[in-house]
Amino acid sequence: MLVVAKFGGSSVASSACFKQIKNIVESDECRKIVVTSAIGKANPDDNKVTDLLYLMYAHVKYKVNYDNILSIVKSKYFTIKEELGLKLDLNKEFDNIVANLKLGEDYLVSRGEYLTALLLAEYLGYEFIDAKDLIVFDYNGKVNLEKTYKIIASRIDGQKKVLVPGFYGAYPNGDIKLFSRGGSDITGSILARGVNASKYENFTDVPGFYVASPKIVDNPKLIKEITYNELRELSYMGASVIHEEAVFPIQDVNIPLQILATHSPELGGTMISSKCSDKENIITGIAGKKGFAAINIVKSKASDKLNIISYALNVLKEHNVPVESIPTSIDSFSIVVEEEKVSNNLYDIIAMLKENPEIEDIKIDNEIALVAVVGRNMVYKPGISAKIFSILGKNDINVKLISQNTSEINIIVGIKNSDLNKAINAIYEGLIK
Ligand code: ASP
Repeated sequence: MLVVAKFGGSSVASSACFKQIKNIVESDECRKIVVTSAIGKANPDDNKVTDLLYLMYAHVKYKVNYDNILSIVKSKYFTIKEELGLKLDLNKEFDNIVANLKLGEDYLVSRGEYLTALLLAEYLGYEFIDAKDLIVFDYNGKVNLEKTYKIIASRIDGQKKVLVPGFYGAYPNGDIKLFSRGGSDITGSILARGVNASKYENFTDVPGFYVASPKIVDNPKLIKEITYNELRELSYMGASVIHEEAVFPIQDVNIPLQILATHSPELGGTMISSKCSDKENIITGIAGKKGFAAINIVKSKASDKLNIISYALNVLKEHNVPVESIPTSIDSFSIVVEEEKVSNNLYDIIAMLKENPEIEDIKIDNEIALVAVVGRNMVYKPGISAKIFSILGKNDINVKLISQNTSEINIIVGIKNSDLNKAINAIYEGLIK
């Protein structure tokens, strides 16, 4: 058994956190590969090192003095080093960083993970391996997975204990390249795939995925098991425990991913895999997101709907606007998009749609929220959508649009932005509690 254990920023925020990580890795010999984020917030008012480094780079770029920011960053690392009696020469490391600022934003920001990994490697007695020597980006900004897996397999044999900083890799010329925010989750899953791990454990500040967001529902239940696909649906709709792309490297080889709370791993967390044994829970999770718009298009009676839909989709494609859903009726259809994606070009889009003489009318419906009720077991159970609509009806929530495909993994309803929390609470009350 070989386990990759990734620790998020809040799990490495203090020397006490480092001690807890030591307990965790020492309690299971299989945890031979550790990935770390940069030092995160030690309390809600604190700042993440990554945010500070982005801010510091803005100062560098506009030639504003950055000494204050750098000293906040330094003090975080020095405090942990001193409290744990570590030897790492941080002065030398920071001098080196300052001397290399010309290497750019990705270089500077990546130093958050790099330094955290150096300290943690020394503290745990693991060998530090730089992510720049493992994860190869192509010049189009995408990871070259084939090359990366080969390098990982040749550098990490599954016997020695290694520590790798998350969040970055390098182009073939050695320049550092960052993943998108939260990308250490992706580093962990690439490593898990590269070493063919039996499990990828992702330690964070929450005990796993909740059936609904604890910011909306009081004390929601924890999801014990969930499939990769369900997870993607929920993450897409705003349930943000792990980076949306983190499942890709491990999904097709079915390496299970477990979300665990660093400070209470005994809670067991959420297990994500391609098949789940539980057939009892019909609904796995409920998530929702505000800020969608529906472009409602009415066609002339005699015209061919297929042509008009394809015309309208091309207009959106030309403006680079992704489409969420296309509910249709005989003479009209709506195209649901994220408001943000059309905020600068809606008038151009409408003008271009109007160029088609077969389009009779165009209306924009704003401020729509989408709620996704996700569950792999819904496919076995008739009547779930009826229950959802009756719950929404009883709570006086008007349904503006409905979408479900035949995989029946989720039912999506569009409602007013202002009804979102009420709807999620009502569906949770009615279907989960
Ligand atoms: N430190 C980076 C961030 O804050 C990456 C990560 O934590 O995964 O986005």
